Amino acid sequence: MGIKKNLEKLRNSIPKEITLVAVSKTKPISDILVAYESGQRIFGENKVQELEIKHTKLPSDIEWHMIGHLQSNKVKYIAPFISLIHAVDSLKLLKEINRRAKQNNRIINCLLQVHIASERTKFGFEINEINEILDESNKLENICIKGLMGMATFTEEKSQLNSEFTKINNLFKKIKNKKISTLSIGMSGDYELAINNGSTMIRIGSTIFGNRN
Ligand SMILES: *Cc1c(COP(=O)(O)O)cnc(C)c1O
Repeated sequence: MGIKKNLEKLRNSIPKEITLVAVSKTKPISDILVAYESGQRIFGENKVQELEIKHTKLPSDIEWHMIGHLQSNKVKYIAPFISLIHAVDSLKLLKEINRRAKQNNRIINCLLQVHIASERTKFGFEINEINEILDESNKLENICIKGLMGMATFTEEKSQLNSEFTKINNLFKKIKNKKISTLSIGMSGDYELAINNGSTMIRIGSTIFGNRN
């Protein structure tokens, strides 16, 4: 099936209120244009350099999301245009985003990544660190924390996925307010479970664009 069909099928299978981030990492400009032409405007990438290139080559009404691990020394390259940074996982990074946002006269929207997976390799804050980080981020004038982001363990074990998503959703429900209203959980393999667990934003790559090499 083609990208356009995949997108239509996906959109029709999820509630309207869910924000769909089309994850276009490793995919060519031509693929992104097909999705764009069928109405998709939010795209997610996980590499700074790729984001920069695609941002300059593609229409300016695209909202670009940085979904991958971000190093502080690379924030400056995306600060002028990024619309949401999903995986903020340290205060140091948050402060650097604030600094670069200020230089660009912008407020940059961020999500705090919460460590929910059993794998040690996945980044993110522990659940009990979030309140302190929220307090600290209130002092940063050019940052807006919009919510939380999580990545579940790479497994097909539904009960485990469920318990990991429940954990982050419980935290989300506690801190939720007018401004903190985004819960970014759910990828191609687990978005239905994520939506059942309160997801408001899903990040979908292979279901739309096909498998990556
Ligand atoms: C690649 C990626 C996705 C999308 O993965 P698919 O399984 O292709 O849908 C979502 N979130 C993050 C952080 C990713 O790196």
